[in-house]
Formats: sequence, structure tokens, C-alpha cells
Amino acid sequence: MHHYDVIVVGLGTAGSATCMTLAQRGVSVLGIDAFHPPHPLGSHHGETRSIRRAYLEGTAYLPMALRAWDLWRRLEKDAGERLLVTTGNLTIGPPDGPAISGFLASARAGGIPHDWLTAADIRKRWPPLAPPGHFAAGLEIEAGIVFPETCIRVFLTMAETAGATLQFDERVTGWAAVPGGIEVRTASGRYTAGRVLIAAGARAGRLLGPAGALLTPKRIPVHWITPPDATAYQLGRFPVNFWQVPMAGNTGNPAAYREFYALPAVKPGGRVKAAFHNRLADVDPELPPLPVSTAEETAMRAVLERFLPPLSDRPIHSDTCMYTLTPDDHFLLGPLPQNGNVFAVALAGHGFKFAPVLGEILADLLEGLIPAIDVDFFSPVRFVRRE
Ligand SMILES: Cc1cc2nc3c(=O)[nH]c(=O)nc-3n(C[C@H](O)[C@H](O)[C@H](O)COP(=O)(O)OP(=O)(O)OC[C@H]3O[C@@H](n4cnc5c(N)ncnc54)[C@H](O)[C@@H]3O)c2cc1C
Repeated sequence: MHHYDVIVVGLGTAGSATCMTLAQRGVSVLGIDAFHPPHPLGSHHGETRSIRRAYLEGTAYLPMALRAWDLWRRLEKDAGERLLVTTGNLTIGPPDGPAISGFLASARAGGIPHDWLTAADIRKRWPPLAPPGHFAAGLEIEAGIVFPETCIRVFLTMAETAGATLQFDERVTGWAAVPGGIEVRTASGRYTAGRVLIAAGARAGRLLGPAGALLTPKRIPVHWITPPDATAYQLGRFPVNFWQVPMAGNTGNPAAYREFYALPAVKPGGRVKAAFHNRLADVDPELPPLPVSTAEETAMRAVLERFLPPLSDRPIHSDTCMYTLTPDDHFLLGPLPQNGNVFAVALAGHGFKFAPVLGEILADLLEGLIPAIDVDFFSPVRFVRRE
């Protein structure tokens, strides 16, 4: 049996980036995936992912957001591929709501160039957007989108070029501590390594033991809308727009807001992508995805009618994706409490933009190094401490 320094379970977003980084550092690494990424059965498909640095989810993400941007740009050069395009990012909602407050806190802490826009400013500049008069927006100008399928292809190609062994269509069924490290079992074989990363996305739960119970896979209906005209909704002209809208009876609790977003069409004649970001249904990731229901489409059309009215009666095509939520909606990243040689990563529905820096941080952890960016905040141990 060949022994590796590291085995990475799951070659999607976090796993492919980590394999690339480890292999480029000369670490012997085996990556295994149940399917062949990029694929539409996890959390990384669907053409676009927003990338921004004014991180409303918390200033703890700022160092990662800043570093990720630089790494994406460097990767573009190394790979000779277009991976990141700027189009601006609007965070829209009531000025005293958590999204706008979080946006401003991060933008100021990180010195990130941004503008403050009133509802009238927004309507004038982007006529498809119809915020109520008391809403405002933070505009991060140098923000945009990355292309997830291309990015994962690049990570995997570079990993293989640098010497990683990659195995596809092979499902990992479990692992166990053995002398010298960890044995990973799949449907067709057994492999050993000093350390293992479980980067299995929405299906990670059953591979993580007790920590797996912290993860909740969620179903995300994703709606692709044919816009009424070809230019106003195009990448470069139409910003990523993230909305946080108070629900009836809102008392300031973040859960009492409805969050959704729309992303620009990538190609001329392409479709706008829209989805809800919170108040999501649980999903069993092992079952084939159910088609998007009429009720789910109607819910999206209702918010479009209020906030992006020209899109509300347009043709919609829908499919689904998955988030892997944690109890506090922050990443899970670090060694498992029950075995310090097995590491977990779960990205709580907002991780793609960080892929290259996650690769760097996870590679450091798996090599036994202290990452330059402090990630203690994301450790699985935080949930154990609370008990
Ligand atoms: C609709 C949607 C929109 C999003 N928008 C954004 C956005 O705009 N910006 C952003 O930053 N993030 C966004 N995200 C979140 C981001 O895409 C995810 O956080 C990220 O892709 C998760 O990466 P991952 O590596 O954990 O999972 P994945 O990329 O899904 O990778 C997990 C891999 O593990 C493999 N696997 C699973 N089980 C096993 C097993 N037993 N054995 C072997 N392999 C296994 C899977 O096949 C898969 O390839 C969005 C997510 C969705 C669904």
C-alpha cells in the first residue's frame, strides 16, 4: 500500500485548491473524489460565484479576503485563464440592518474602496433595481465574480502537473487511525497518509464523526432568468446585488431578514442568476436532487416583482445546489477534536471566493505549520468549548 504525506477527500472547491498547493510544495498528496469535479452534484457548479473583500459576514474574514484576491490574480497569470472579472458588488438593505453594518465595518477596517448610495442613487444608476426609499447600499467597486468550473479545472490541472495523484469516481467510505497516521477506505481500496483533509462539502457530515453533526446540508434552488434586454444585465455593467430585506415583525434579529441575490449574465444573451441565501430547506445530499417546485419559483418571482421588477415575469429555468451550514454560519476549518491528524473544512455557503487562500491555509495546517493568517476563529473546537 502506497503511503502519502496527505490524503485529500473531495476535490471540489477546498480540496482541489489544497491539493494544488501541497503538490506545488513538493508534498506527496493523493486526492480522491466520489465524482469528477467540476460537476453539478456538490456546491461548486453554476457558472459564477461572487467575490468581494468588504466582508459583511465579519472582519475575521478580512485577511483571507484580501489574500484570496491577490492569489486569484496570480493564478490567472500562471494558468493563462480568465478567472475573476470585476463588475461591482452592492449590499442593499435598511441602513441600520446587519448586512450594511457588516459591510461598512469590513470596508473601513480593511481600507477597501467603497461608495455609499441612497435608494434614489441605486435606481438612477441601475434602473432594473428597485429598492424602497428607506434602503441604502454599500458599493464595493473592485468586486466581481469568479468562474467556479474553470477555477476547479485549473486547480486540478496544476495539482496533477505538480505531481499530485488524483483519483475520480471513487467514494471514500471512512477512515481510521493506524500506526503512522490515518487509513482511508474507499469502495475499491485502502490508502494511508500521515494526515487527511475531509473536504467533502455537503456530504462531509458522515465522514467527520461527532463534528459531522454540526453540519446541515441545505437545498438552494437557483433561478436562471432571461432578462428583457441583452446589455443592462451583463457582467461589467450589472453589479452583483445582495439584498437583506426585513421580514414582517422584524425586531433586529438577523434571522428576521430575508436574504437573496442576483448575479449578472456572463455571456451576451445569457441569463441572470438569482437565489435566496437564508431561510433554506434541509436536504439529504445522498438523494438525487428534487426538481425546483412551483412554490419555490413563485417565492423568487415575488421578490423579483418587488426589487427587480423587469425580471419578475421573464422566463425562468431553475436547478439546485447545496450549502453546508454550521451552527454559527461561519467556516469550520481545522483539526478534529477526536484526532489531530484529520482536518475538516466546511464553508457555510460562502466559501468559493476564498478557494486559493483556503488551499494555502489548509496546506500549512496539513504540513504542521502555523498559517500566516490566524484561523483559530474557525476551529471545530469552538463548538466543543461551548458545551
Ligand atoms: C447556489 C450557490 C451559490 C453560491 N454563491 C457563492 C458566491 O457567490 N460566492 C462564494 O464565495 N461562495 C458561494 N457559494 C458557496 C461555495 O460555492 C461553497 O462554499 C463551496 O463551493 C464549497 O466548497 P467545498 O469544497 O466544501 O464543496 P464542493 O466544492 O462541493 O466539493 C466537495 C467535493 O467532495 C466530493 N465528495 C463528497 N463526498 C465524498 C466522498 N465520500 N468521497 C470522495 N469525495 C466526496 C464531492 O464530489 C465534491 O466534489 C455558493 C454556493 C451555492 C450552492
